[in-house]
Amino acid sequence: MLKGMGETARNFIGSYTDKDRLTTVQYPEERLPAKENTRQFPFLVFDGDDAEQGLRCVACQICEKECPPQCIYIEKSKDKKADHVGKVQFFPATFDIDVSVCMSCQICVEVCPFDAIKMDTEFELSTTNRFGDLLLDKSKLAKSNDHFRKIHPTDSAVIDAARVADREKAEAAAKAKLEKEKEKEKVDAAKKKAAEG
Ligand code: SF4
Ligand code: SF4
Repeated sequence: MLKGMGETARNFIGSYTDKDRLTTVQYPEERLPAKENTRQFPFLVFDGDDAEQGLRCVACQICEKECPPQCIYIEKSKDKKADHVGKVQFFPATFDIDVSVCMSCQICVEVCPFDAIKMDTEFELSTTNRFGDLLLDKSKLAKSNDHFRKIHPTDSAVIDAARVADREKAEAAAKAKLEKEKEKEKVDAAKKKAAEG
């Protein structure tokens, strides 16, 4: 206890002479940059420039099922769109999160198989408009991968690399399939010619 009090006294006195010992700032005029592991509320990541088309979410609804306070609401689309590797997938027709209920546990992020939902560092959400400002729909939840890179550079670098590897693997598989089909066509044509002649 004495050691702790000594450290507090050292910081208190030192804060008048040494800037590094001043551990607080004059918020809101001054702000400290958010630490990389800061987590507040979830957002939906999109790739490219189109927030709607680029959403990574495929509406699998795992996060909705796993969210402890059940503050996620998803309606799956009737049609499908291509994902980042060109695979045709469902997407969320509706995706809402009630952030007034969200407890920032990050379980939705951990269970998502598509790296489609991540935790934002934004915390200044105070409002008196409970449903207008705190029930966030897809358009308010969608944020670019560039935003994710900015707030969580380490995580996003790992995910970007894995997604590039996935894309390359999918392209290689598609190419191999095409070549196999061409080869089969050649063999079939040769067989047909032999049978005719
Ligand atoms: S952070 Fe936790 S409480 Fe908030 S939406 Fe995700 S799973 Fe639900
Ligand atoms: S955010 Fe992830 S876990 Fe949730 S529905 Fe979309 S793809 Fe599934």
